[in-house]
Amino acid sequence: MNTDLVVVGSGLYGLTVAERAANKLGLNVTIIDRRDHIGGNAYSEIDPETGIEVHKYGAHLFHTSNERVWEYVNRFTSFTNYVHRVYGVHKGEVFPLPINLGTINQFFRANLTPDQARALIQEQAGEFAGQDPQNLNDKGISLIGRPLYEAFIKHYTGKQWQTDPTNLPASIISRLPVRYTYDNRYFNDTYEGLPTDGYTAWLERMADNPRINVQLSTDFFDDSAEFSKKNVVGQVPVIYTGAVDRYFDYAEGDLKWRTIDFERETLPTGDFQGTSVVNYNDDDVPYTRIIEPRHFHPERDYATDKTIIMREFSRFAEKGDEPYYPVNTEEDRTKLLAYRDLAKGEKDVIFGGRLGTYKYLDMHMAIGAALSTFDNKIEPHFARGASLEAGGVDA
Ligand code: FAD
Ligand code: UDP
Repeated sequence: MNTDLVVVGSGLYGLTVAERAANKLGLNVTIIDRRDHIGGNAYSEIDPETGIEVHKYGAHLFHTSNERVWEYVNRFTSFTNYVHRVYGVHKGEVFPLPINLGTINQFFRANLTPDQARALIQEQAGEFAGQDPQNLNDKGISLIGRPLYEAFIKHYTGKQWQTDPTNLPASIISRLPVRYTYDNRYFNDTYEGLPTDGYTAWLERMADNPRINVQLSTDFFDDSAEFSKKNVVGQVPVIYTGAVDRYFDYAEGDLKWRTIDFERETLPTGDFQGTSVVNYNDDDVPYTRIIEPRHFHPERDYATDKTIIMREFSRFAEKGDEPYYPVNTEEDRTKLLAYRDLAKGEKDVIFGGRLGTYKYLDMHMAIGAALSTFDNKIEPHFARGASLEAGGVDA
């Protein structure tokens, strides 16, 4: 087989491994992807009618505090100075998110100082005040008190996850900051921005090496493909970034995923909502949020008479849908442990990325995890003959 390493999936995890293996170790790498483009869910394309860059699989905002990841991504693209802010509509009124002093004062029609707001929220957190609950419902109430939780989190989470919030992990909500200042930046990270020439230019630069052979529209489970599971496992090291349950033919049951349906519209106005993301926090609106992609690039010279909007509808993924977010209930975590045991038996296969580890990973986390796996497993194997640790799961 004329390749040293097979990478299944050309998302940021797979691209990072492939780029390092080709550029640092001089290996011949084959990347396969079942889609007809590279980049996984970070892929974007230019809408031919308006010239607006659209994130095909949902809005992607790059942010990181990891110095190594920031240095690494800047080898392939520069970033704009875009700072992400989100607004939320509740009972016909627009509030700044994530919950901050502005949200609190607007909601309670008050003029509270940070200390007064803290005291109020603590009182409203009731029995959960000062605790560190492990499920989303109790954690949410402990962080922002019951009235704000019910206004901004309860119904939005219900629409997004269709799962009782007492059965969802607290980590989903802990990603969002709560601030007792008027700072409404959505992320807390040191670095933030969007790739200046767009996501696809960035992702293509990562694969731009004659040693990297990309085969698109190729499914790893299609036995007739040259680099299929049947043909390569046991023959050549494999980095697998597809869904872990699919790899084992769902032997331990299906892991639950959420997917999103995007309803896209082009409108005859230069500006629909004045900002890139507006959440709809109440139950009476079926979608979770509206994205208006032109606002991701205020520095670009987009036409002023047309805009694109995307409404997001969230639901459980069926087989054949794009799996986007791991639901991660107790039952899923039990199944995942069984899949990890199976993975240990797979010779020279490393399971990585969001689908391969069944973890919510932001882009910088997927890149960071891939760089660590490269350092700890791939480079020692190819440079010094160290074992790849059969079936190593990238934890
Ligand atoms: P993916 O990008 O999912 O790539 C996996 C690839 O494997 C896909 O291209 C797929 O086609 C391929 N594949 C799967 N099965 C097979 C098979 N059998 N054969 C061949 N190929 C296969 N991160 C952020 O940092 N900021 C954000 O704002 C953000 N927003 C997001 C919004 C949405 C809706 C989603 C879904 C994700 C978002 N992310 C965001 C996360 C980001 O997309 C991931 O971190 C990143 O995609 C992880 O890359 P990956 O390589 O693990 O997976
Ligand atoms: N969330 C919410 N209301 C909001 C924003 C977020 O209830 O207005 C909850 C919801 O459960 C969501 C989680 O916080 O899944 C994380 O929010 P984020 O914006 O990171 O959502 P993502 O797009 O990653 O699902």
